[in-house]
Amino acid sequence: MGIVTVVDHPLVQHKLTLMRRTETSTASFRALLTEISMLLAYEATRDMKLREQAIETPLVPMTGHLLDGKKVVLIAILRAGLGILDGMLQLMPSARVGHIGMYRDPKTLQPVEYFFKVPSDLEDRSVLVCDPMLATGNSAVAAIDRIKKNKPASVKFVCLVACPEGVKTFHAAHPDVPVFTAAMDERLNDHGYIVPGLGDAGDRLYGTR
Ligand code: URA
Repeated sequence: MGIVTVVDHPLVQHKLTLMRRTETSTASFRALLTEISMLLAYEATRDMKLREQAIETPLVPMTGHLLDGKKVVLIAILRAGLGILDGMLQLMPSARVGHIGMYRDPKTLQPVEYFFKVPSDLEDRSVLVCDPMLATGNSAVAAIDRIKKNKPASVKFVCLVACPEGVKTFHAAHPDVPVFTAAMDERLNDHGYIVPGLGDAGDRLYGTR
């Protein structure tokens, strides 16, 4: 089965608990998601390759390390994935960015794609796909199906809250794609929402409900 990393750092857990609370304002929710996303990105990029680089400090010459290879690609699943993207871009401002527009059909809970725009040269690049809630897993599977057609060097999935049902569906389709999440919640309810969860991430991020 695929790998799931629950980022249980105390700062992440504290911020996530603030986000879950019903009374948390849109502004706070947005700011907290940005902050947590930076910490998730920190974990999800641990295996980035480095190259040696000769530099001079004000005191002596030394050999430092810089990121090697092509820029990483961040792909946000619209619209809530934009919230994770914002934080990740603060940490990796040169990253390339892609967007996948997908909504869940409320009756079938199946994903419907309405937009797809990613950098044309994914071949040698590492891709981080961002979507806050790994709920049914259907949108995530469809997004990765689509991204893999462009043959990226590697793909990881970064979310805020996952549930066992979503992870099972996701890794049944893509066992090679590791998942990074701040929490593994109890379950999925009949409406496709994660319980206890935090409600609709997009609505909470943009104040649309
Ligand atoms: N999408 C959300 O925004 N929240 C959930 O709990 C599930 C899917």
